[in-house]
Amino acid sequence: MDPVVLEKPGTLRLHALPPLSLYVHIPWCVRKCPYCDFNSHERGGALPERDYVAKLLNDLEALLPSVWGRRLSTVFIGGGTPSLFAPESIDALLSGVRARLPFEPGGEVTLEANPGTVEAGRFRGFRDAGVTRISVGVQSFDDAMLRALGRIHGAAEARRAVDAALAAFDNVNLDLMYGLPGQSLAMARADIEAGVATGVPHLSAYQLTIEPNTVFFNLPPRLPEHDLCADMQVMIEEVLGGHGFEHYETSAFARPGRRCRHNLNYWEFGDYLGVGAGAHGKISFPDRITRHEWAKQPASHMKEQAVAHREIAPRELPFEFMLNALRLPYGFSTDLFTARTGLPFSSVGNSLKAAEEKGLVERDVRRIRPTLKGQRFLNELLQLFLPA
Ligand code: SF4
Repeated sequence: MDPVVLEKPGTLRLHALPPLSLYVHIPWCVRKCPYCDFNSHERGGALPERDYVAKLLNDLEALLPSVWGRRLSTVFIGGGTPSLFAPESIDALLSGVRARLPFEPGGEVTLEANPGTVEAGRFRGFRDAGVTRISVGVQSFDDAMLRALGRIHGAAEARRAVDAALAAFDNVNLDLMYGLPGQSLAMARADIEAGVATGVPHLSAYQLTIEPNTVFFNLPPRLPEHDLCADMQVMIEEVLGGHGFEHYETSAFARPGRRCRHNLNYWEFGDYLGVGAGAHGKISFPDRITRHEWAKQPASHMKEQAVAHREIAPRELPFEFMLNALRLPYGFSTDLFTARTGLPFSSVGNSLKAAEEKGLVERDVRRIRPTLKGQRFLNELLQLFLPA
């Protein structure tokens, strides 16, 4: 990789552009879960699928001049609950995307699905539309835990959804949560083992946290103590490691060859276009890196014609890069930092030295990785890279 020249403050020189992904946001759910702070809205009647797909494609068109000549390597249709959309709508969406931007051969196309909104025929329809990977929001296989989380489905429905996904796709992720109200270590272990037993090649395990603007924030449930949650995290890493899953990101575990390429592109500070209500993106140019974001409320987003691009100040780039790359237990190369930010690696020398002295990162000549302590105290580690 050529050395990067920083000509003057605010002017970067990127010698190669990173892979390009597309995130599509579908903002509706059957019901709002009490812990959820995503941009998701309870559907009130029939969804405006046709109009929304047309708007998504308009959003994409508005972004095209920024990415002429580039190819998409991955697409992620997230939400909300994208599986509420009919396979015909997803087909219209993906056909429209392909007509506007070429896909790399073998590109990954993920769709998020929730139990209670899917059955075998629907999964086959998504596959025929061009989806290659399904992410099922199971959260738990325990009826009591699912009730405590206010989910619309029970354990039996979750199992049926996973089986139906696996009948149509070989690339399936399960989202599970731990640190749930009233959950013991044994209960968390049973959930993870149930996830492994389904045969999926990818699992994501998230700790339940209480976020502002949620029902749980105003009516907090009693959650397991901090130490118990830390024990659950260690247990999950051990159980999944024992079953041949690689822990490749804070919350993500994959069998060989089954890492989520879309999320990896975020974590390696790649580029992504965001379309849909509240979606945001990041685009690199040879001399700058920008962000864009669409209006959050679906009704406002439907009226929005154009999106503003904001240039990321070079002094913010080290933190932005680390926010993603330090989630990778195996870390990142010094070349990747330079290639993605357009900054010389020496620009983070002092912060890295401080992190090393605190035992939060370790490095050799070409690679930086968070230590176990750095992974556990990620926020403390990241603060060292905040702009002065
Ligand atoms: S299904 Fe997912 S996106 Fe929808 S409200 Fe529940 S947690 Fe949020």
